[in-house]
Amino acid sequence: MSRFQGKVALITGGGSGIGRAACLMFAQEGAKVAVVDLVLEGAQETARIIAEKGGEALAIQADVASAADAERLAREAVDRFGRIDILFNNAGIAPRGTILDTPEEVWDRVLAVDLKSIYLVSRHVVPVMQKQGGGAIVNTGSMCSVQGFPNIAAYTAAKAGVLMLTKQMAADFKKDNIRVNCVCPGTVVTPMTFQVWRNQGKDPATQDTSRMQTPEEIAEAVLFFASHAARQISGETLVVNGALTF
Ligand code: NAD
Repeated sequence: MSRFQGKVALITGGGSGIGRAACLMFAQEGAKVAVVDLVLEGAQETARIIAEKGGEALAIQADVASAADAERLAREAVDRFGRIDILFNNAGIAPRGTILDTPEEVWDRVLAVDLKSIYLVSRHVVPVMQKQGGGAIVNTGSMCSVQGFPNIAAYTAAKAGVLMLTKQMAADFKKDNIRVNCVCPGTVVTPMTFQVWRNQGKDPATQDTSRMQTPEEIAEAVLFFASHAARQISGETLVVNGALTF
């Protein structure tokens, strides 16, 4: 299947986990991919795998919470590929803590990386899509977008914001044929989850992952939202959690 032949996808957090899976799957289906990550080696490794399989990718080191980097990463992608059809706002961090034990600088960083980044990056990509006559944006939410969990206050506040910013952008850019949707993963087998376990003193090797999602299972939903099949879907939230809540 080549649902994205001739398309260009820009994916943040593309150097690991869900972002890397999405990069590889978009490339597999014909897209050229701008792989953005704070960690250059991660982005380069993703781009290398894509190139090895005959695809085309550009690795971009950037902090999505930086306004200057957001402007640059969009410019670099357009300079290289000439257009951006798909934006996957996926980079994120998830430090633990209630409001009592979350230091202010951690609170500000989580809100900046997980929420403000969507504002910063999209501001430079939406005008490109407007000129092209349309595009698709997918934002990564979380189960924390829709319900509270103990000990993860800043993340939950940010991810709840992601859900409503998705709806807001869908409303604002409907006139431009730009669709904006949100995927909310459950618990995914990625380095982020391993880090959470380590912080809790748990050995990742001993954890039961049988009811968790793979990065690819989350990316499937992202590709659907970005595809022609979802052409009438915008402002929506799709929880992909293997019925965790039931
Ligand atoms: P991950 O840690 O494997 O990957 C996240 C990537 O984002 C990393 O490569 C990291 O370097 C990059 N990144 C972090 N801060 C950045 C910044 N400021 N600028 C650019 N890149 C940055 O994590 P993941 O599990 O693949 O998470 C991806 C997204 O999915 C995140 O938004 C996360 O909140 C969300 N999510 C994950 C889970 C889960 O269980 N893993 C569940 C729900 C939601």
